[in-house]
Amino acid sequence: MKGRDNEFLIATRNPGKKRELEQILKGLKLITLTDINFRWEIKEVGNTFCENALIKARFPHELTQLPVISDDSGIVVPALGYLPGIYSARFSGEEANDEKNNNKLLEMVSVLPEEKRNAYYFCCAAFCYNEKCWTFTGKVDGIITLYPRGKGGFGYDPLFFLPEYNKTMAEISSEEKNRISHRGKAFKNLMKFIQRYFLLSEE
Ligand code: IMP
Repeated sequence: MKGRDNEFLIATRNPGKKRELEQILKGLKLITLTDINFRWEIKEVGNTFCENALIKARFPHELTQLPVISDDSGIVVPALGYLPGIYSARFSGEEANDEKNNNKLLEMVSVLPEEKRNAYYFCCAAFCYNEKCWTFTGKVDGIITLYPRGKGGFGYDPLFFLPEYNKTMAEISSEEKNRISHRGKAFKNLMKFIQRYFLLSEE
């Protein structure tokens, strides 16, 4: 049925992402692009999160025939013309890192009135199998803070305030983050689909 030895290829070379997905996609055997020596570069040239997720899943699926899982995510501030959006990782330019990206976002948000500082994280997960592809999405709402808070998570998490927790995304546990996050929700939807598709028993 599924690929070689029931393995699902995740379209990433990042071992951190593999660990995070193993927590959410419990029971699936995940391998990365590095594990199969996938040498091609995948260019994210889409205009939306789902276009990019589909590019990332479809290309390795066509080359390997393995079932492939991918995702594309980012943070969106509607009052900033929906930026950083699909440009979240490289928001501060070629030499971007989390600190530079956060500083740029803080600078842009600092001129906005409080009611315009609402934002959301969005994730599109894609799954390709037997030459067909599906997408699943997840979203979480928050507010951009005016100064960073917390040491957990990564990326924009210290700036992403969750009013119902009175904490930023960097101040909640990773289990809690997986439960409520854009990625957690998108991958739970994908997991339900895979379980139904392959008639795996729910745990
Ligand atoms: P990716 O598509 O998951 O690689 O995410 C792209 C970029 O979006 C990351 O480099 C981060 O800047 C931002 N991002 C996505 N998800 C999160 C998150 O959960 N917390 C903080 N930043 C995130």
